Amino acid sequence: MRCERCGSKAFERFRGKVYCRECFATRYIGAVESCVRRYRMIRDGESVLAAVSGGKDSVAMLSALNGLSKKMNFEVSALYIDLGIGEYSRKSEDSVKSLCREYGIELHTARLEDYGFTVSDVSGKTCSVCGNVKRYLMNRFARDNGFDVIATGHCGEDILSNFLKNLYSGNIQWSEKQKPRLDGYDRMVTRIRPLYEMSEKENMLYVLARSLPFVEDECPHAPPSTWKEIVYEIERRIPGFRTSVLRNLARERKGGNEVFRYCRICGEITTSEICQFCRNIARFSKNQ
Ligand code: SF4
Ligand code: ZN
Repeated sequence: MRCERCGSKAFERFRGKVYCRECFATRYIGAVESCVRRYRMIRDGESVLAAVSGGKDSVAMLSALNGLSKKMNFEVSALYIDLGIGEYSRKSEDSVKSLCREYGIELHTARLEDYGFTVSDVSGKTCSVCGNVKRYLMNRFARDNGFDVIATGHCGEDILSNFLKNLYSGNIQWSEKQKPRLDGYDRMVTRIRPLYEMSEKENMLYVLARSLPFVEDECPHAPPSTWKEIVYEIERRIPGFRTSVLRNLARERKGGNEVFRYCRICGEITTSEICQFCRNIARFSKNQ
């Protein structure tokens, strides 16, 4: 089979057409660009801090942002959060370092260890603690260092499976936070999801097409992927389901302004007296 764009040796199919490696990568970047423009994720001249874990999705995101930064006039730097998950974290950091070196992108690192604990010390609800830690450290780092926007590598399946999970557990209001661009307020920095309409498979193929370094191992704490499998199954039965729901979700009106206050200990935004991060420190940190 031959690439339908240039006639070179075929690599893979992308949204209905067969492409060679080079044309696949070009079409992929074009699709990310359309997504970023469709939801006005990045404004002229903004500085973007891309949170990169070293997995295929965030690696694809950093590469795409790097490819679009000149054309769309924004700056991009990377942030790696060292969660202290043993060998997995070490491998991931090395991989992110070599990717940033290859692109000449400035890499920053935030270490959970500096707060007296690591994700490996957490017992029970590991991913929930880890998620809180990542959001907290990303926001503080971006704000303290003057970044306009934080970009995360969530793909379409991540967002849809979270949506279904929230629907199931009665936390539908949390889906409001899964927008392609969530404008910052008060001490919260704007967050964007450049891969909002990209699928996991497309991200993986892009990373392979460009031979980018990424970590294939899964985090040892990763939960079973039941909700994602459900999303795949629906997409298999109703092709186009993913994009259609994502676009409807993005259109949904914003609710009333969230009531928030400041954490008594660290001063970050929270809905209770002490923020979840400080409660995690109180529970797990050896620094006290
Ligand atoms: Fe953190 Fe859970 Fe993801 Fe591992 S799988 S990095 S513990 S959120
Ligand atoms: Zn081609």
